[in-house]
Amino acid sequence: MKTNYSYARQSAPALARKAKKRSIFLLALMAAAGILLLRPLPLADKLLPDWGIESKKNVPPVDKLHPVVAAKQAELEAAARKAGIPILITDGLRTVEEQNALYRKGREDGGSVVTQVQGGDSYHNYGLAVDFALKTKDGKVLWDLKYDGNRNGKADWMEVVALAKGLGFSWGGDWSGFPDYPHLQMDFGYSIRELKRGARPPETASP
Ligand SMILES: [Zn+2]
Repeated sequence: MKTNYSYARQSAPALARKAKKRSIFLLALMAAAGILLLRPLPLADKLLPDWGIESKKNVPPVDKLHPVVAAKQAELEAAARKAGIPILITDGLRTVEEQNALYRKGREDGGSVVTQVQGGDSYHNYGLAVDFALKTKDGKVLWDLKYDGNRNGKADWMEVVALAKGLGFSWGGDWSGFPDYPHLQMDFGYSIRELKRGARPPETASP
């Protein structure tokens, strides 16, 4: 009588173990894909190869806000003040180390998660983003999207956002996935991938 060797060699528990290994592998794969897709970078930045992006070596780290961003920030503060909405710029340029320290919050470090973005992956790291908050008359700082301090029936936060957009900023509150309501940035058409490789918008770039 012939023996079915392949069946005989793989006992039922061994087959079950194999199936379990396969499903664990699939779960890990799905988790990795999920993490990749949830990061707040354009899909092209995540998936496209580096072809066509010139890599510049030894580019010094950015040490100040881009002059156009700085000028537009000042214009925004003035326009908001004129509308009866004093604002506070809470953050501008952030070094890669500062960004990584922020990323550790709620992960290796205590507290809650404050950013989804690691050092080098934020427009703040290239002097191309600022964060704002509202200021009340008695000097309190507010992150309240509904506050109407100038009593015109419109949320001050959204009035500031509209002014900022008019000046050429894009708003982190429009991001799907992880909206970042205080965040205003000007990318001048540069992707994070390009900036990471040393490309820099010219000082005279228009928003
Ligand atoms: Zn920001």
